[in-house]
Amino acid sequence: MSRIRLLDKSLIDKIAAGEVVERPASVVKEIVENSLDAGSKHIEIEIAGGGMEMIRVSDDGSGMDRDDMILAFARHATSKINTESDLWSLSSMGFRGEALSSIGAVARVTMNTSQGSEGSLIEIAGGEVLRQEAAASPLGTRVTVSDIFFNTPARKKFMKSSVTEGNQIYDIVVRLALSHPNVSFLFKNQKKQIFMTSGNGRLPEVVLAIYGADYARRMMEFDYEYGNIGISGMLGNMELTRKNRKGQLFYVNQRVVKNQILSAALEEAYRGFLLNRERPVGIVFLRIPPEDIDVNVHPQKTEIRFHDERTAFLAVKTAVRETISRKLDSSITGERFFNRADLEQQVEQASLSWKAQEIDYAPKPFQLNRAFPSADDCETPGSTWQGSVSEMKSDFMTRDNPIIGPQDNEGESRLLGQWQNSYLVCELQGRLYIVDQHAAHERLLFNRIKSSPSQINKQELALPVALELSPDLIETAENNRQRLEDFGYVMDRFGEKSMVVRTVPPVSDGEEIETLMEILDSLRNMDSEEIVKGDEPFKVLACKGAVKAGQPLVPQEMLRLLQDWAQTENREFCPHGRPTCMVLDKNQMDKLMKR
Ligand code: ADP
Ligand code: MG
Repeated sequence: MSRIRLLDKSLIDKIAAGEVVERPASVVKEIVENSLDAGSKHIEIEIAGGGMEMIRVSDDGSGMDRDDMILAFARHATSKINTESDLWSLSSMGFRGEALSSIGAVARVTMNTSQGSEGSLIEIAGGEVLRQEAAASPLGTRVTVSDIFFNTPARKKFMKSSVTEGNQIYDIVVRLALSHPNVSFLFKNQKKQIFMTSGNGRLPEVVLAIYGADYARRMMEFDYEYGNIGISGMLGNMELTRKNRKGQLFYVNQRVVKNQILSAALEEAYRGFLLNRERPVGIVFLRIPPEDIDVNVHPQKTEIRFHDERTAFLAVKTAVRETISRKLDSSITGERFFNRADLEQQVEQASLSWKAQEIDYAPKPFQLNRAFPSADDCETPGSTWQGSVSEMKSDFMTRDNPIIGPQDNEGESRLLGQWQNSYLVCELQGRLYIVDQHAAHERLLFNRIKSSPSQINKQELALPVALELSPDLIETAENNRQRLEDFGYVMDRFGEKSMVVRTVPPVSDGEEIETLMEILDSLRNMDSEEIVKGDEPFKVLACKGAVKAGQPLVPQEMLRLLQDWAQTENREFCPHGRPTCMVLDKNQMDKLMKR
């Protein structure tokens, strides 16, 4: 008996659908891209239940006649390419003719469309046409998708919470709106307007409508030619950096792309202007001859290949670098692009070395245990240790010290000092320890607050801070009010786009808001289960509460830190997995010295 069978059509469609329709956000992307391809000026996107209940996209584009409408749901039916050569010079968003058939295969879809006169309607569920008829509709197309994955339960199980799926949709709509400033986008979630762009063609106004004035103010527009590549968009200044790449959006010929080379080029361009762990923010558009790229790499079309990667890299790097430098040189009055004090001067001295810029982070006197004191640590910092260093030394030695196991009283134990204001050097029973003060303190704080979050004190701000947030972050903050309060942040809604922060946790001075933003970022894409269990916010708090590299400590502080660290679990690594110390014994040292 033959074992090879042809798959039936509905199964083939379901398999193909899996490649295009991964989650509700991919449905939104495909449908909105169709609206853009149809020349729409206004696109309205409405979702409910994170898109799993309902997605509706209405446009005022070209619309379709009845025959085309039916054909649109057939696989590999497209009006956008005809011949193979078209494939190499694409200018439309869609081209594979897979989206509508795929969506129709795994959801219920109703489409109303009209080219101006009489309109038509089609209803499809699980790949079956349920209804098609004439129906009056305005010029354009409206697609309503509900019950995504109703017939592929295995896939449905992979969906996250409606908040998470909704955020993914928000991200997609934002990306599309940014790349089409001359199309007006209206985005609604649960009947509430989240944002609306004007469609007047100006990118800064799109940024303003989506992210608010605080954000827009810290970005600048640029436009640059590099050979036959055009690079334009908006770049963040030094006050708009992030700890991850979420603020970096890239487009190639208006198509949202993920590409490592472009991120690397952007970061390379900012090198020397930003501090070590800061990452730049940028919305970068590349215009490149279509024949120089390959977009047909992946069904979701988010990956592309450059035929000449090196040139693409140099184009972005040069454009961004030139923009930044020009802004630094110009003596335009008003707000400076980079208004971190001293920086301009340093850049003019052309050294661009890391060290020079860190001057701005002049170390503040650090009080150990200021952040998250442990129960037996409640005395005022500083006053705890009245005795001389030698007394403490003996205490350090005689504790049953878990780093070195039970006391065997072999060799000496003493604090040798602080090196580079960053590493604590000590001798413990004859071995040499070099301890990263930040990583060690981070581990210590993380263990403490993780095991009893109630130790996170709330410090009331003398002046509450009003914070303008994007709609998705406002929602995250509202949905996690209690959780944020546990982390030390008491906040209230203030108008449509802002929250007022009333209390903050004891993190380093000046980093309270940045810390909050990082926590919101981490909560934003978590499921409710992860929100309860997730470590990420604790890591952020520990990192921001810990003594910094570069901060001078007095011997009492060093000893206290070493002592506490030595008693804590998993002390060898910080919560991010970096080592906290290096140990050398005499033999190893002799070997190193080739004695
Ligand atoms: P593709 O976009 O890759 O061509 P789709 O399955 O997304 O494939 O769409 C199939 C066809 O349906 C498109 O080529 C287009 O002709 C038509 N179509 C889809 N959506 C719209 C719309 N909103 N307005 C006008 N035509 C549309
Ligand atoms: Mg399409």
